[in-house]
Amino acid sequence: MFSVSSLRIICSSRRVLHSHWVMTNRLSIPKAVTCSVHCVSTSFYKVIWPSNMYFRALLDKERGLFNYTKQAILSRCCYSSQVKLNCWNCKQLLDKTPAFFCNSCNIIQPPEEGTSYFKIMDCDYTFTLDTQKLQTRYLQLQRSLHPDNFSQKSVKEREFSESQSALVNKAYRTLLKPLSRGLYMLELEGLRLEEGTDSGADSDFLMELMEINEALDEAQTPEEANKIGQDAKGKLADLTEQIDVALRKGELHAAKTLLAKMKYHANIEEKVKEKLSGFM
Ligand SMILES: [Zn+2]
Repeated sequence: MFSVSSLRIICSSRRVLHSHWVMTNRLSIPKAVTCSVHCVSTSFYKVIWPSNMYFRALLDKERGLFNYTKQAILSRCCYSSQVKLNCWNCKQLLDKTPAFFCNSCNIIQPPEEGTSYFKIMDCDYTFTLDTQKLQTRYLQLQRSLHPDNFSQKSVKEREFSESQSALVNKAYRTLLKPLSRGLYMLELEGLRLEEGTDSGADSDFLMELMEINEALDEAQTPEEANKIGQDAKGKLADLTEQIDVALRKGELHAAKTLLAKMKYHANIEEKVKEKLSGFM
């Protein structure tokens, strides 16, 4: 079992500074983290999970287990944070993370650097998140943070409202669509989908895409284009399920390949929309 200070290292970006220690203890980490979910107050964990520089070196199986436990932690500590902040105005301790307003003086707070979009939008760290809940949260936050509400306030408050409102917009847009949501989740894990490359796409897949694109170019009626659009929708739904499974298992490279495919099919869906507007 790890000590509390060791758990803090495992669960924070400080593990980067303790890479040797982390690698030495790597086999016990998933167990310790699982146990700590149940045994230790979640206030030790920062909800934004830093890039897995060292965890990429772990075996897939270990990493899968680690990711599973990480998701468990993330979903359990929506309102807790390792670092407690104080209100910039009245200096009272802020009661939650992120705190958009101070509970004592009710004044707007600046955005907290590095807070994950999932936490900002109060959503579970999962690929299949509840978009209805996301939408409700978005409207609720924008109602209270919108710069129009602060036109009579101090310069500082106006600035905070602008930056908070922009951040909420960005978090909402990123989490709304499965593609951007998946890419963001990969980014949190330290993986990026390179722009303009066919990362992970096999030749059969590229051939299939070429055929779809040709069929779309040659479509003469809205019905023909619609049919291609429906096929793309079906493929996107299948991919969404597969990506969810891969991410839950911590199979990040598999998720990355699937997200690359999703990007192509989402692109076809967009092209279908353009084609349909051409028929009008
Ligand atoms: Zn205050």
